[in-house]
Amino acid sequence: MNDEQLKQILREFDLKVTKVRLCVLDLLLQSRIAMSHSQITDALEAFELDKVTLYRTLNTFVEVGLAHKVATDERNWLYAIYSEDVQQHNHQHEHHESPHAHFICEACDKIYCFPIEEKQIDLKKAELEGFSIKQHEIRLHGTCPVCK
Ligand SMILES: [Zn+2]
Ligand SMILES: [Zn+2]
Repeated sequence: MNDEQLKQILREFDLKVTKVRLCVLDLLLQSRIAMSHSQITDALEAFELDKVTLYRTLNTFVEVGLAHKVATDERNWLYAIYSEDVQQHNHQHEHHESPHAHFICEACDKIYCFPIEEKQIDLKKAELEGFSIKQHEIRLHGTCPVCK
C-alpha cells in the first residue's frame, strides 16, 4: 500500500495523519500475525519510536476499531489489523468487527488472524439464556505453514 492509501485509511477512521501512525498502520497491515509492542518497536527500529507514542498509537487504533487486541496464553496483548475490518469500515463509524478467528501455532506461538464464515456462535441464544457477552473470540490451535 502506498502512502496515499494509508493516509486515506487514517482519514476514514477520523484520525489525523502522523508519521508514527502511518508506519505502524503499514506494518500491521502487512503483517499476517498479531504483534507485541516489542516486536513492533523492533520492526520499526529505524523510526526510533518512542514507547509512549507507540502505546498511544496502538490504543487509538483499537479505540476507533482499526486494530484489535489479542491476548496470548501468557496474557500479554498483541495487536493486529484485520484487513477486512479496514475494507468494510463504513462512514457511519459503527464499530463493526468482521468475524474472524485467531489461529495459534503450537510450535512458534504466533497468532494469525484467520477468516471464518459468519454466525459460528449463536450469540443471541446465549444472551437469551442470560449470558452477557462483552467480547467473543474463536481460537484455533495447530501448526502454521511455516512450522509444518
Ligand atoms: Zn508456527
Ligand atoms: Zn485478529
